[in-house]
Amino acid sequence: MMAKQGGMEDGRRPLVLQGAMTVETQDMVAALTEVQEEPLGHYRCVRGLLAGYPVIVCETQWGMANAAAVTALVIERYHPCAVISQGTAGAHNPALHNYDIVLGARTVNESAWQSQYAPQGAGIDPRALKQLGVFAWNEQAGAFTQEVYHQGDAALLAAAQRGAADYQQGRVVTGTIGTCDSWNCEVDRILFLREFYGSDVEEMESDAVAQICLNFAVPFLALRIVSNSVFQGDEDWDLAVGPVCQQYTLQVARAYLSQRGDKQAGTETVESKGQQANV
Ligand code: SAH
Repeated sequence: MMAKQGGMEDGRRPLVLQGAMTVETQDMVAALTEVQEEPLGHYRCVRGLLAGYPVIVCETQWGMANAAAVTALVIERYHPCAVISQGTAGAHNPALHNYDIVLGARTVNESAWQSQYAPQGAGIDPRALKQLGVFAWNEQAGAFTQEVYHQGDAALLAAAQRGAADYQQGRVVTGTIGTCDSWNCEVDRILFLREFYGSDVEEMESDAVAQICLNFAVPFLALRIVSNSVFQGDEDWDLAVGPVCQQYTLQVARAYLSQRGDKQAGTETVESKGQQANV
């Protein structure tokens, strides 16, 4: 298959690495060679090479709508082989500390619920909520279906898990990443969200990106580093974790891309080179 219009000129499908803030993206940009700024509107988007493989780094800004928009635009322009959403997150799992990393076996939108009818003055009861999930394309059903959880891609997750043994700055766990345009600080609310959704951390982008990746059949993984925890009184929001998560992500990217190899990551290149050779 030839590269579609708008993809990389050499036809190779890049890996997309996302972060919401500069402190979550700038080290990944610094790791690239042959860097070119190719903004998507006002969103920063940088292309380059990582160990010779094409990579795109996007700075999505905070929040679900921004991250979803950037994901749709980057998929349309570059036809990526996969997307990784990474960055900082707040702990839902009381055992987690700053610098611990959660690899997203699954993501969940923690604002997608319906409350039961209750009359004025009856108060609010979060435990009476019904989980709704969000609509994403379901290839098997051939339709958009409403799902509560979205699974991380198995090959990306395996590549991410292989890096755990070398990580010195904290623990690496595989778990559930909860997404919502909220920042929760009430311990009881956080414990409720963990009970209700099984989430290990909360942040504001991953499940929105997972949803759009499903819609376009692009493999997706979320991985997040804990930057704050209400369970550890002495651990305020620490943005120094941002660069650490980027280094972890870069190593996942290298492992994933080298495993895919040119045959898959650059299928179109091999074919188009072959065609040129035949001319
Ligand atoms: N408390 C901030 C709110 C926004 S920061 C403020 O003072 O304005 C939001 C960014 O940090 C998002 O990109 C999100 O993914 C990440 N994040 C880190 N910890 C978070 C938490 N505990 N809850 C929600 N998002 C968090």
